[in-house]
Amino acid sequence: MPYSYDDQNIFAKILRGEIPNNTVLETEHTLAFNDIQPQAPVHVLVIPKGAYVCHDHFAAEASEAEIIDFIRATAKVCEMTGVSPGDGQSGYRTISNAGEAGVQDVPHYHLHILGGRGLGRMIS
Ligand code: ADP
Repeated sequence: MPYSYDDQNIFAKILRGEIPNNTVLETEHTLAFNDIQPQAPVHVLVIPKGAYVCHDHFAAEASEAEIIDFIRATAKVCEMTGVSPGDGQSGYRTISNAGEAGVQDVPHYHLHILGGRGLGRMIS
């Protein structure tokens, strides 16, 4: 699974501080920020700080520390934004587009967290 990472992508620029972002949470290995074109009242992007292209790249090559930090950060974002059904809130959906067929625009791994409205059924 050879991946080449383009460090000129927009999220790499955000991580280097070259482009501003609306940060929701920053941890040692992870950054979460509001999507610039929100598709729901809550639309947060969670990205690893490491240079990973998409989900399977991250899952295969990131360290356990990075993976645990990322997963825990997503939970924290759900709690912070009030969408966690564990808090009796309405719930959310996570999406990660990968590659051309997945219509991934930005080639730095990111998880969309969408919530704050009914999201409808995606897969039936
Ligand atoms: P898609 O555009 O098909 O959702 P991706 O899954 O790659 O493709 O998602 C990229 C996301 O990044 C989009 O939701 C887009 O609105 C968001 N985005 C692009 N540039 C920025 C930025 N500078 N700050 C925050 N979000 C951004």
